[in-house]
Amino acid sequence: MSTATPSAPVVVEARGIRKSFGDVEVLKGIDLTVRRGEAVLVLGPSGGGKSTFLRTLNHLERPDAGTVSICGEPLGHLERAGRTTALRERRIAVQRRRTGMVFQQFNLFPNMTAADNVAAGPVHVNGVPRAKARADARELLAMVGLADKAGSYPSELSGGQQQRVAIARALAMSPDLLLFDEPTSALDPEMVREVLDVMLRLREEGMTMIVVSHEMGFARAAADRVVLISDGVVVEDQPPESFFSAPQHERTRQFLGRIL
Ligand code: ADP
Ligand code: MG
Repeated sequence: MSTATPSAPVVVEARGIRKSFGDVEVLKGIDLTVRRGEAVLVLGPSGGGKSTFLRTLNHLERPDAGTVSICGEPLGHLERAGRTTALRERRIAVQRRRTGMVFQQFNLFPNMTAADNVAAGPVHVNGVPRAKARADARELLAMVGLADKAGSYPSELSGGQQQRVAIARALAMSPDLLLFDEPTSALDPEMVREVLDVMLRLREEGMTMIVVSHEMGFARAAADRVVLISDGVVVEDQPPESFFSAPQHERTRQFLGRIL
């Protein structure tokens, strides 16, 4: 069940995002609006710019053109009285905290326990006292089904457990938005389910999410919209039922023909 409504506030507003690497234009003007509580699944051919686009949403990648606003605040620059001023890196770092990101390769700190991985952001970035941050971390780990793993190091955890720690770590910063970049692609099949279950629960709790994934199960069970990014643009943007059964564009039909 969707928690989003057509009038829910806009969390992500991407307009005309362009990005080139050398001579190759990877993003050719991406537009996307995501409202509070929506879960948007992004599909597209490998190398089509999905990761690059996600990275522009927290300014890990600076677009060459276009703007991204998160909860109404433009990323990377200030617009005031019709003038645009670039923000300093420190200010951009503060903006970035509103967006949590979960990667294919977990990216946990190997020398820290699960609880300390989750507590690190609150302690070092937000200045939360360590005891409080650890207590919060234990609650978040319990929420992702890892109450008994708080003291374990990443090397002692399975891939699915590590990815759930990574999700708890992203949640610890109370983000307005969670970005998932192929979160289950590095997992053995039997671990995919436990990560998807956590994502489904987050969505039921109303978390705003953009998910790059080829998990059709997630698409059907949890996505409010499915978006196809191909050749640097948004080709199709539909609720899952129409995306899969009645896509508007030939390119979407070709893509579905290859993956289904
Ligand atoms: P996807 O996630 O859809 O597979 P990516 O966004 O990772 O696609 O990559 C899109 C294209 O941009 C690919 O051709 C990739 O090689 C290129 N690319 C991505 N990041 C960089 C970079 N930092 N430098 C140069 N080329 C890059
Ligand atoms: Mg990618």
